[in-house]
Amino acid sequence: MTVDRDTRAVLAQNYHPLDVVLVEGEGSWVTDVQGRRYLDFLAGYSALNFGHRHPALVEAATRQLGRITLTSRAFDHDQLAPFALGVTRLTGTDMLLPMNTGAEAVETAIKAARKWGYEVKGVPAEQATIIVAEGAFHGRTTTIVSMSTDPEARDGFGPFTPGFRIVPYGDADAVAAAIDATTVAMLVEPVQGESGVLIPPADYLTRLRALCTDADVLLVLDEVQSGLGRTGTTLAQELSGVQGDLTTLGKALGGGILPVSAVVGRRDVLGVFTPGTHGSTFGGNPLACAVGLAVVDLLEPGTLQERARTLGVVMTAHLDALVAEGLLSSVRTTGLWAGLDVAVPGLSGRGLCEQLAARGVLAKDTHGDTIRLAPPLTISEEDLTLGLDVLGDVLRKAARRTGMDSVEG
Ligand SMILES: *Cc1c(COP(=O)(O)O)cnc(C)c1O
Repeated sequence: MTVDRDTRAVLAQNYHPLDVVLVEGEGSWVTDVQGRRYLDFLAGYSALNFGHRHPALVEAATRQLGRITLTSRAFDHDQLAPFALGVTRLTGTDMLLPMNTGAEAVETAIKAARKWGYEVKGVPAEQATIIVAEGAFHGRTTTIVSMSTDPEARDGFGPFTPGFRIVPYGDADAVAAAIDATTVAMLVEPVQGESGVLIPPADYLTRLRALCTDADVLLVLDEVQSGLGRTGTTLAQELSGVQGDLTTLGKALGGGILPVSAVVGRRDVLGVFTPGTHGSTFGGNPLACAVGLAVVDLLEPGTLQERARTLGVVMTAHLDALVAEGLLSSVRTTGLWAGLDVAVPGLSGRGLCEQLAARGVLAKDTHGDTIRLAPPLTISEEDLTLGLDVLGDVLRKAARRTGMDSVEG
């Protein structure tokens, strides 16, 4: 299906999508304009953790569409308090500030950390610094790309926001060396999603937690992608037994229906915001809160997190076998989330995703030879295995075409 030239003329080309035009989705499956069906192994970068049009989420949204959808924060509505109570209960946190997109949640955390630094920690005016990690992805605003190390995300968008120190990801010693009296926060993803599901050393988060506590620095964990069940726990930080002072949530919080994000964390930190100091017209709107609360209801029993763990074992076994065959050079998995590096000469991540799409499986490359798999947590084991078998098949055929001698058959 090719997009005609008129469309290209009117649509900004800030994406390079695969050549599919989707019209319908249900659960783990989507259908294109020609009626072809595909397994969705990307799940909206984890925004679709519960699959397409999960009945409970559609029900919550439909019910709220028949009541009230927008009030602005100038007035309260009856979904806001239950949403705040639900998300803080689910995450074991004290307080919530609702926003819309992940980038806005990160911006909110940056502002909270700076204000806390000046008003509570006593950092001299305009001096606050925040430590961030190389290869991080926290969104696309001008301030957030100021702390990016990805030239594609940065080039041409300066001048940048000052006040960030960038250290290698996974290196707690580098964080220790970067902390000084001006440091208000360390902002980091527990698992780097866009970088290709990079998992830091096992003691990384616990060491960061101790460093931050000792130096009176806030640990801000960006769980926009890693949070809400993906890693087999409600939050990825639980795997290390740490709690961030602030945690950003997004993507799956909107149930694949609309953008819903939030910062949750310590009351004495989010408490620095007073009326008028921060806000959003759409943040915490009734429709968003109704859907977000239904997401909390889906996660509260813990069965989806358990599913992510169980299915993750199945996925890891399949992918490890492809590494053993020499088709992948490495694989990183946590829960139902995988980053894999293609080892077939001449086959790029993009090329692999194109061939997968032709065989009815949708995935997306992150960088170069790396692709990420993040199927819905609701996927059946049968569908998961089906998609992974297609992946193996596509890799094997591509390897045979290049005459790769490490591959048999
Ligand atoms: C996707 C993502 C964001 C940005 O979310 P948007 O809703 O696209 O603004 C921020 N942080 C992480 C870790 C993400 O994966």
